[in-house]
Amino acid sequence: AKQEPVGRVRVYTPRMGEQQQERKAIRGELRRAIDDGQFRLLYQPKIDIASGACVGMEALVRWDHPQRGRISPDQFIPVAERSGLIVPLGEWVMNEACRQNRAWRDAGLPPLKVAVNVSAVQFLCQDVVDMVERALDAAALPPQALEVEITESIIMTDGAKVMRLLDGLRGLGVSLAIDDFGTGYSSLSYLKRLRVNCLKIDQSFVREMLRNEDDVRITRAILNIARDFGLEVVAEGIETADHVDFFRAEGCHLGQGYFWGRPMEPTDFHRFVADSAST
Ligand code: C2E
Ligand code: CA
Ligand code: CA
Ligand code: CA
Repeated sequence: AKQEPVGRVRVYTPRMGEQQQERKAIRGELRRAIDDGQFRLLYQPKIDIASGACVGMEALVRWDHPQRGRISPDQFIPVAERSGLIVPLGEWVMNEACRQNRAWRDAGLPPLKVAVNVSAVQFLCQDVVDMVERALDAAALPPQALEVEITESIIMTDGAKVMRLLDGLRGLGVSLAIDDFGTGYSSLSYLKRLRVNCLKIDQSFVREMLRNEDDVRITRAILNIARDFGLEVVAEGIETADHVDFFRAEGCHLGQGYFWGRPMEPTDFHRFVADSAST
């Protein structure tokens, strides 16, 4: 028999406590959860600030665990990224978001663009262009029906490969948005190279804005950058009428947040769009 390597003793310190156990449990169950269909997508409306009309939605994943109940993505996406399971999970998300978008169109809703979060790890581990193209084909959706949200962290990874994949997505006709803009370390020169369509102002700036002058300055700077580059901007985390007033006054066209609507079940989203279209 093979001998156990010496010195491979696992030391359990108190710090390696609950949280780590939880992570391990999650990792073990993720794979099965994908096959078992325990994930669901909620949809949060994206709003034209001036008119209040719904112009699109963001798909946000949830894990409905049979014992633990609903688990938020902050708890399992990082685990999925570290284990590589973000690839099959992300593929399920992309397919399901496209399938749902097709179902809404068939049910008579106006054609809306669905935004899907794609992790930097997916860009490194698979041909996301191929993955996206297959999802669009399977749902018989035009590329204009899809926006891919990436974070600035993608820039810190394999630059050449990522650029090639982003070119490929643009080639398909899919729009690209940078999520959580302003929270990363990327230099602004990347904006030119990435050639995205849209910046999403991170909700941390919006949350502090009414108390913190610096966050107002950062927000204004992002809006100016977007204007100079000819990009769309979405302000995230809009919770109050004061937030709405601020962004309207600053000429920001699009917003997302609890003020208009939380992430919703598909049937609720359908009703939300149908109701707002008839008023
Ligand atoms: P994100 O992409 O920045 O998504 C926005 C988050 O802000 C969502 O949290 C949303 O529910 C929340 N939010 C929206 N409006 C408001 C508001 O007015 N106030 C506050 N306080 N929060 C608001 P959620 O759904 O828990 O998702 C958290 C993060 O998990 C997402 O942040 C995204 O990074 C990640 N995520 C979610 N779904 C996916 C997915 O399908 N794939 C990947 N790779 N990541 C995902
Ligand atoms: Ca997002
Ligand atoms: Ca965001
Ligand atoms: Ca975020």
